[in-house]
This record gives sequence, C-alpha cells and structure tokens, in this order.
Amino acid sequence: MNTEYYRRNTCRLCDSKNLELVVKPAATPPGDRYVSADDLNQVQKIYPLDVFFCRDCGLLQLLDVVSPNILYGNYIYTTSISLGLVEHFRQYAVNVIERFHPKPNSLVIDIGSNDGTILRHFQALGMRVLGVEPATDIAQKATESGVETLATFFSPEVAQKIQYEYGKASIITANNVFANIDDLSTLIESIRSLLSPNGVFVMETGYGVDLIKNDVFDNIYHEHISYFNVKPLASFFRRHQMELIHVDHVETKGGSIRSFVQLQQDSPLVDESVKTMIQQEESLGFDRPEPYQTFANKIARVKIELIDLLTNLKSQGKTIAGYGASVGVTTLLYYLELSELLSFLVDDNPIRHNLFSPGHHIPVLPSDTLYEKKPDYVLILAWRYAEPIMKKHPKYLKQGGHFIQFLPEVKVI
Ligand SMILES: [Zn+2]
Repeated sequence: MNTEYYRRNTCRLCDSKNLELVVKPAATPPGDRYVSADDLNQVQKIYPLDVFFCRDCGLLQLLDVVSPNILYGNYIYTTSISLGLVEHFRQYAVNVIERFHPKPNSLVIDIGSNDGTILRHFQALGMRVLGVEPATDIAQKATESGVETLATFFSPEVAQKIQYEYGKASIITANNVFANIDDLSTLIESIRSLLSPNGVFVMETGYGVDLIKNDVFDNIYHEHISYFNVKPLASFFRRHQMELIHVDHVETKGGSIRSFVQLQQDSPLVDESVKTMIQQEESLGFDRPEPYQTFANKIARVKIELIDLLTNLKSQGKTIAGYGASVGVTTLLYYLELSELLSFLVDDNPIRHNLFSPGHHIPVLPSDTLYEKKPDYVLILAWRYAEPIMKKHPKYLKQGGHFIQFLPEVKVI
C-alpha cells in the first residue's frame, strides 16, 4: 500500500461497492500546507478530491485517503484560539449533562480532545475527565493545564488500556473527528467497548445536507473524507449494535449535526428528532445522487461566470487580489483556476502572513496591504464572511476598490 495515500473501493460506512462519482473538484495539495519562502522550490504533490455517493447507505465521501502524516505534519490549530468555539463547547457540555444526569465524578472521555476545551467544561460540571489527542505538544499542554490527556491516536489497544486504568466511561465525545477518519468500524467498536451500559456517545460533525444547501464547496478538502447525513449514520450505528437516539442540528462550521448514541437495548430511548431528520433528508432527495449532481452543476456554472468576469478585468489591465487563505481556499483556487488571475492573497490570521498558497505559491499578506498595493478588485474567497470583511474595509471601497462575491452568485460591489 502507498504510504502517502490510497484509494479505497468500498463505502466507508457499509462496505458497498455501489458508489457513484457525484462531485469532482480539482485535485489539490493538502489544503492547509501554506509554505514559507524557503520551501518554494519544493514541488507539492496533488491528490484527488473526487466525491462519491454510496447508493446503498447514502454516505457522501472521498475515497482517496491521504496519510495523516502528510495532512497533519505541522498541526498547529488549537480549539481555544477561536473564542466562539469555547462558548460553543461550554453549552455543549451543559446540554449533555442536563440530558443524561450522570452521577457526580463519572468518567468523560473526549477523543481528539485538542487542548481540552470541552473537557474543562465537563470538569467544571463535576465530572472526571480524560482526553485522547495525537498532537503531542497540545496533549502535554492540556495535561499541564489540569486536563489529563493521553498523547496518542485512539485505537482498540488504547481503549483497552483506558478501561483497565480508568474504568468504563459514562460519556464519550468526539467532535469533528468522524469526518477525518477512514476506518470508522474500528473506531466505533473501540468506543462501544469503552462505554458503560447506560453511557452515551456524543459526536458533532459537519452535516452533508448543509454542505449542499449552503453551497459550502470549500468544505471539501482532504481532511474531510466523509460528509454525514442522519440516515446513513443511524444504520451504521445499528450495524454496530448501537442506537442513534437523538440528533441536534447546530450552526457550527457551516452546519453540523450533534448525534447522541447508546448501546442497543431492549427499549431504546429513540426520540422524534431522529425520525424527523431522516424524513426531511428523504423528502429533499438526499438519499439519492441527484441533489449532489445539481450542486456540482451549480458550482460549475459559477466557475464559468467568475472566470469570464476576472479574465475580462485582467484584459483591461486591472489588478485582482483574493481575500482569505484557509484550507478551503485551496479547493477554490484549484477548482476555479484562479492562480493566474490573482496577484496576491490577504488574510486576517497572522499565522498565514508571508507564506505562499499550497502548490500555486501565491503570496499571502496582511489585509492592510489592500491600502498599499491598492488592487482594483478583491475577490472574497472567504465568502461566508463577506459581510464582516466588507464592514472591516469601507476605506478600500472609498479608495475606489471593488469587492467581488461569487457565492451564492457572482456579484461586483
Ligand atoms: Zn454505504
């Protein structure tokens, strides 16, 4: 097996081979690999981003799996950096405790626990906590700050070791983890083995329906290999002797679902939310390939219109910059073929400044550069934040500049 990447030929949830290619973004390098000036001579390899739909269980997924070593080699993101997420996880912990009333001092385990943000909230609510986090530095810092964290990938062996040393867990959480892991059967079996008989497993992950409905094409990148809807998830859990008992639809990351899962029992406490969401998915056709094909066609139309506009401006001698330098921007730059049309990118995150975009090596500069270099047009690549970006830069419009939006439709401001 290639150690950098492989393509599986079966569905990640149900092992079916009945898979249909529905969306075909361009192949890209790992989207987060913005490089420094010293590394510009290194060629960055590209990997396919083809999105497949399983005709048997309905999972939307990438079959090309890039090795975590390549994707996360220089992983620096920590949860508390984004302030919004700290409050999100506080409410999340309160919500779980209020719903299940575990005994004081019950064990809560978070898989992919990062800097321990959610566990700190569970701790404040009287729970005993344990994190599992593969990024060694982040795990160590979490432990030092009072949230004990094992610096390792979660595996059947680790699950066994935890059970032996800490006992079974009343609550296990995994947030934004399921979408990034290829072998979900092993993962869920390990979780099941570690959950106490009346325990609950809670996970939050991006919602496939929202990806399509909200045109979040830029959420397709190599880290996200699955885009979950409720229906395929419910049958997946059932195949592993677990039961999806409740789902919340939440706003996080452009639309997510929070799923509550228990071990299968004689009378599972499944509530209406599961049935309601599955019915909605079916009535909108998300258990069939058509909505995904319609989405791909829409993005293709946006591409033609945008390239037409930008090529025209370019031929009139106008300069164009891009706003945004995230992992998802890489998907956009490649698919929309923007590399020759943009002189530079700007971003508000200082971590990105003076780096170069993956593969194309477009320079990334601070957003104040708009007032020095005065590009005639700025294409808002971080399109979901178009409003705050334009509010932040009225001076740019005053100096005669124009913003270009491209989703949900192409528009010059
Ligand atoms: Zn399937």
